[in-house]
Amino acid sequence: MSPSPSPTASAPVLGTPGTTSATKVVLLGSGELGKEVTIALTRLGAEVTAMDRYAGAPAQQVAHHALTVDMSDPAALTAAIESTGARIVVPEIEALATDALVALEETGRVRVVPTARAAQLTMDREGIRRLAAEELGLPTSPYTFASSGEELAAGAARVGYPCIVKPVMSSSGHGQSVLRGPDDVAAAWRLAAAEGRVDRGRVIVEGFVDFDSEITLLTVRSRDPHTGQTVTSFCEPVGHRQVDGDYVESWQPHPLPHEVLQRAQQVAAAVTGALGGWGLFGVELFVCGSDVLFSEVSPRPHDTGMVTMASQRLSEFELHARALLGLPVDTTLRSPGASAVVKSPGESEPGAGVIYQGVAEALAVPGSDVRLFGKPEAHPGRRMGVAVAAADDVETARSRAREAAARITVARADSADRGAAAR
Ligand code: AMP
Repeated sequence: MSPSPSPTASAPVLGTPGTTSATKVVLLGSGELGKEVTIALTRLGAEVTAMDRYAGAPAQQVAHHALTVDMSDPAALTAAIESTGARIVVPEIEALATDALVALEETGRVRVVPTARAAQLTMDREGIRRLAAEELGLPTSPYTFASSGEELAAGAARVGYPCIVKPVMSSSGHGQSVLRGPDDVAAAWRLAAAEGRVDRGRVIVEGFVDFDSEITLLTVRSRDPHTGQTVTSFCEPVGHRQVDGDYVESWQPHPLPHEVLQRAQQVAAAVTGALGGWGLFGVELFVCGSDVLFSEVSPRPHDTGMVTMASQRLSEFELHARALLGLPVDTTLRSPGASAVVKSPGESEPGAGVIYQGVAEALAVPGSDVRLFGKPEAHPGRRMGVAVAAADDVETARSRAREAAARITVARADSADRGAAAR
């Protein structure tokens, strides 16, 4: 029998895939993070359907079933989820018809991970920022919202320069720009409107934070097997470096003074507690001296957390899988580790995929490992893989991960290269 739709005090029972006892899970979004979640779920005996807007997405390649659906269409999303028979719905991306998830959760037939409200509040920057700053009173950068070029000019003047403008529906630096003064307003508005994921014509204007470091605090809400109550656990902080708003490398642990770590954990506990449910969250924080500012939260594994595949006893994906199934977690660090991303320099030829050159050389770096995502198409700057490495200290792990990633080249494949791997 599947675990019941809402988090429950009774221990979960897991079934057998492909039979009437199956514990069915549907993943909404099938990227590289979803692929690892799928692998972790299938190891625990779940039957997984991976959904995406295009066929052949990474998680679809390893799931029991694949569905290609326009997940921003409420009716299509609802019908697709119901067709799977899954009682556990795991959003892996933000751009979803989240109202449909709320309605579906209300029927009691499914449990959305961690909760439908979490998916709804985090799908745009306004919902989560207002929750964190205005309802929970957590420290953040100064901010305002704008829906036109004029509002942006007024908002930037209020927040002060320099400031950062981001479409409310965006991630990975898309449509984001830094404004140094009023002359930058018009270009920032045009960029945000052009590159926002769903053009709602709305942006957040944030004061530029001159942080000492930025961290992701991976935070897990899971069922305590002894009490049946929900407990919150923290991984060691993950430090990371971003270029143009997109992550390029991360490492763990990122050292913090005890009281700063405590503050970070308090912020993470407050925001994840407000979102509720079971699962792993990536809480993004800026550290400025002894201050900790809340930036964002993903109610799911975080890209910078890929380092945990090298550094923790259980990766962030295994932690998410365990937590969402109602199983106990263990956030122990096994070794200092690091990750470095592998990006595509160009476009792939339709239908030909890409070739990863230098993988053997990358894996010859001591303590290293790679994940090649298998995305069927490449675009300039698209993340196609990641190198991870463990070492006795973070600095060595970082240089190993960077070295391994640098040895891999994502090359354009043409018809002559088909079957290259077999040769
Ligand atoms: P985000 O898409 O909000 O996660 O932003 C991507 C990256 O841009 C962050 O990881 C930071 O490196 C940088 N960033 C975002 N907001 C700010 C801010 N208010 N001040 C300084 N840097 C920021």
